[in-house]
Amino acid sequence: MAEARIIDGKAFADGLRARIAEEVASLQAEHGLTPGLAVVLVGDDPASQVYVRNKGEQTLAVGMHSVTHRLAADTRQEDLIALVEQLNADPAIHGVLVQLPLPAHLDPAVVIAALDPDKDVDGLSVISAGRLASGLPGLTSCTPLGCMMLLRDALGDLTGKNAVVIGRSNLMGKPMAQLLLQADCTVTIAHSRSRDLPAICRQADIVVAAVGRAEMVKGDWIKPGAAVIDVGITRFPARDPQAAAAGKTRLVGDVAFDEAKAVAGWITPVPGGVGPMTIACLLQNTLTAAKRRSGLA
Ligand code: NAP
Repeated sequence: MAEARIIDGKAFADGLRARIAEEVASLQAEHGLTPGLAVVLVGDDPASQVYVRNKGEQTLAVGMHSVTHRLAADTRQEDLIALVEQLNADPAIHGVLVQLPLPAHLDPAVVIAALDPDKDVDGLSVISAGRLASGLPGLTSCTPLGCMMLLRDALGDLTGKNAVVIGRSNLMGKPMAQLLLQADCTVTIAHSRSRDLPAICRQADIVVAAVGRAEMVKGDWIKPGAAVIDVGITRFPARDPQAAAAGKTRLVGDVAFDEAKAVAGWITPVPGGVGPMTIACLLQNTLTAAKRRSGLA
């Protein structure tokens, strides 16, 4: 059997951002509407700083309004919530994202609950989860949304397919399973207590691995021809000792890529698969939120 086709998430994300930029330009020209995204970063976690900078740059690159609020690590919860409420009320802002993780003294559940659900572009609030589970219009967590776009692009109609999602987090596994269910898949959610995970996976036309355990999913877990979406990211020191000594890392997914590629029909690589979709979907959610706010969607 031929090797799996590689699902190129970077190319898809580039195309998605280009389509978003076109739509932003026509919203501005026809309705005077510029979608706006506000990102709030508390503290100086180096990884979060990189993510927040990338989000700001990509927001501007598609022609949207971008605001970044950088708050001190010792910011009080009431001050953070006051900022969220100010952004909720700001008509130039259609999406608000509070970068996680927050410093330990801040409760992310309380902060996320303060977000206007119609601006919750990370899809993390209880109301967003409830809307998704109830099939109501809402905003969906960006990474699962990106996985769905890649699956639809590769497979077309997903009706009737057996899908196995490994992982049940609120951020990833649960919304992924809901989206697959909405697409008329038969969905199994597996987790750390599931029995005989290899046998569960072998039933699947679609496997979405969202665990965070490097190369856990082996080639012989995959049904021939299945689509494999690898969400997991584990960082290891770079292979080159000099690069490793300089602190460089390499990313490894949850799927043993070479083995799985020999069996699967489609597979996402790590890096270059799901990862690039996340910020592109954040922009998509901001566009959706702006259009809904203005009665255009
Ligand atoms: P998480 O909250 O740690 O959840 C991990 C899930 O994996 C849990 O539901 C856990 O089950 C399950 N699990 C752990 N060990 C398992 C095992 N041996 N067999 C089966 N299931 C097992 O992580 P997350 O936030 O969902 O993220 C998952 C991975 O995706 C991480 O590597 C993360 O870095 C990556 N990620 C990537 C992107 C991206 O942009 N590409 C975005 C988000 C997340 P229990 O519930 O039973 O503990």
